[in-house]
Amino acid sequence: MSPETSGYWELFDKTFPMLIDGKLINDGETTDVVSPRDKKVVGKIAVASKDDVNRAVAAAKKAGESGPWSKMTGQDRAKILMQIADAISSHQKEFEFLEAIDVGKPVTGVRYSDLPISLDSLSYFAGRAQDLAGTSKEVGTADVFHRSRLEPFGTVLEVLPWNGPLWTGVQRMAAILAAGNVAVIKPAEIASVSFTYLASLIADLLPAGVLTVLPGSGSKVGAQLTTHPDIDMVSLTGSVETGAQVLRDTAHQIKTVSLELGGKNPNIILNDADMDSTLMWSVMGAFANSGQICVSGSRILIQRGIYEEFVSRFVADVEKLSVGDPLDESNFMGSVVGETHFKKIWEYIDSAIANKQGKLLTGGTPYTDDFRSKGWFIKPTVFADVASTCEIACEEIFGPVVTLTPFDEIDEALAIANGSNFGLSAGVFTQDLNRAAVVANALQAGQVYINQWFAPGVLQAPSGGYKHSGLGAVGIEKYLQTKNIFTRINPTRI
Ligand code: NAD
Repeated sequence: MSPETSGYWELFDKTFPMLIDGKLINDGETTDVVSPRDKKVVGKIAVASKDDVNRAVAAAKKAGESGPWSKMTGQDRAKILMQIADAISSHQKEFEFLEAIDVGKPVTGVRYSDLPISLDSLSYFAGRAQDLAGTSKEVGTADVFHRSRLEPFGTVLEVLPWNGPLWTGVQRMAAILAAGNVAVIKPAEIASVSFTYLASLIADLLPAGVLTVLPGSGSKVGAQLTTHPDIDMVSLTGSVETGAQVLRDTAHQIKTVSLELGGKNPNIILNDADMDSTLMWSVMGAFANSGQICVSGSRILIQRGIYEEFVSRFVADVEKLSVGDPLDESNFMGSVVGETHFKKIWEYIDSAIANKQGKLLTGGTPYTDDFRSKGWFIKPTVFADVASTCEIACEEIFGPVVTLTPFDEIDEALAIANGSNFGLSAGVFTQDLNRAAVVANALQAGQVYINQWFAPGVLQAPSGGYKHSGLGAVGIEKYLQTKNIFTRINPTRI
């Protein structure tokens, strides 16, 4: 069946709904779903009004405080999380299709990355829901027994980015619910389809109000939610600018805010790196999901002894990447997410060319063929000999644009790598694991990869960002607060 005649298009016949107080609502205000694959309007999605937000938060608060959810055990919550996993499992093809159409992600990327991460998150947090450990400490007197308890905040708002609409939403939702909170999810305005579709599959599995899904813009729905007095905790995954705005907006409310933000992640390649595997990981780390991954290895620093060889082989490998229809199983890269982002990426490319920020080795020109010129596709673009202070080597482009910069000594590479306000991820390639350990210790980033890119254990070993890349805890811990309880065993003795 060709993409254009696929039966899954019927999913777009109905307006994608919001979920408030257990009810799916799609008969109010809507916005268009525009596919970046061909710039066509393919459907509609509900948008929350001010009244919707107030009604939804009131229902969520009630569900958290006095509904059945508040009486459920971790085991009960775990069972529901596994039912949600079953619902996703039996609709995998639909999710692949929706992400491809809505955000331009290749179906294979959704199949082999976004869906497994989503399903693993549900089973992992189902386990954690049943195993929330407190501690007990000696407190300096035998008369007092201490124990700590991990407790939910109550109503937790999760604001999602657009680059992983399904997996970021499922991962965060699973942790919020496992911790015993109720979840209010605001998907990104340009990528709300998959999570609202999920809401329609699982609305009946949860007591009313335990999961709320409110699509809408950041400046309206997002800002109303972050500042809502009945939202007890705010978690946001997005850009540094939005993170700073949310901190400003919520400052007077003294509520817990956790931020998972952007990165401009250095990939350091030493002279003794194994060339074949380093190339494979570096290309994937830079161009998977068209570079729209917070931990993408977007600035590559190469030691002078292998610089020429690495650059020519890297460019040859990049030119072999298949870019095209995200519905086509053979494509590694689809389009970027939408028009505004497409224009922003082009501004960086044009400015780098105009200001001679480096040597353009591949990409950097628009597609002219019939299919890709009609969508928001950008060629994988590589600039070499880029000074580490250039705009394209410093700012997060969040697209398929990579800079290559040579260095002589490791200290120089570390100074370049750490000379950034970002500190999300970093990597080093070398066959000398002692040297790798020294470099890893010196890198200022929340996660460091040695001889690979991307972390396989994001659930078991969740990482936050250093510096401007994040604030607050990560994983399930961020959705829990600690209560210390002190019991005097012999109350008559002081
Ligand atoms: P963004 O900051 O534009 O938007 C993120 C979310 O915030 C959206 O849902 C948006 O509607 C909402 N928002 C915007 N303004 C708001 C406001 N004033 N109040 C409340 N909500 C508001 O980010 P994006 O472009 O959607 O995502 C890309 C960014 O996310 C990149 O910087 C990327 O690195 C980062 N990211 C980080 C991680 C991580 O785990 N650290 C993961 C994925 C993406």
